[in-house]
Amino acid sequence: MKAAAAARRALSARLSAVAELVPPGARVADIGSDHALLPAWLVSTGKSPFAVAGEVRDGPLRQSMARIEADGLADVVAVRKGDGLAVIAPGEVDCVVIAGMGGALIASILDAGEAAGKLRGVRTLVLQPNVGEDLVRRWLLEHGWHLASERIVEEDGRWYEMLEARRLKDADRLNAALYDPSFLGLEHPPERLRALLLRMGPWLLRQPDERFFGKWRSELDKMETIRRQIERSDSPEAARKLRELGEEIALIGEVMACLQAGIS
Ligand code: SAM
Repeated sequence: MKAAAAARRALSARLSAVAELVPPGARVADIGSDHALLPAWLVSTGKSPFAVAGEVRDGPLRQSMARIEADGLADVVAVRKGDGLAVIAPGEVDCVVIAGMGGALIASILDAGEAAGKLRGVRTLVLQPNVGEDLVRRWLLEHGWHLASERIVEEDGRWYEMLEARRLKDADRLNAALYDPSFLGLEHPPERLRALLLRMGPWLLRQPDERFFGKWRSELDKMETIRRQIERSDSPEAARKLRELGEEIALIGEVMACLQAGIS
């Protein structure tokens, strides 16, 4: 009866999109779970048989324990204190979710977890970086995970990218095709275009929607603001930054124009 309360508790648009990417039936670890809303929802709706809510801070940990206890889910949601993937044993879960953190932190958690063997048996990673998405895509690419899907969700005027990665035997071959920039039809050095794919997302670039354009219009606005700030300085370092930023703005603008022309 109590578990039904957790199932009825609505997730935000962002967390709903994360939950959708969790394969049905998967045992899940939600790393940096904070409020444990996601594991509570996954288990109480029957999407997951078992979940671990991992959290490094005491405050959220205590709140999560109280919530899981009150929802009557303590036998199916294990709330554990620890740094990153240290909270799981190898082979304990099929899917790892890391959401709502920066890309650099997500990549470092994956790095440490992989070195400790904690990703053994994990088939799916659901990652939602708030910033630094390119660092997460690069980590996946360099560690043989296939980026299976990507989407953008808008919540309260912010855009969030969701990345779903799968451990597949032919991940390297699939990734080579996915990160082949020729579909963009742009005349730039391949390494520049590959960096662009890591930054903007190889699936998102192939299937641009209104959210994609909204996000990148907003990013371009922020970059223009930074450009105006740097323009006030006359140091050689500022001149270099200005040139790099100008090139980046021009390339992203070019991509946006091409994609918009392609769908109109
Ligand atoms: N995942 C939830 C979501 O998407 O709504 C909560 C996101 S919250 C902004 C980030 C949480 O990650 C915080 O509760 C923070 O304490 C936790 N965190 C940060 N670094 C961590 C680490 N290395 N291991 C475990 N948890 C961590």
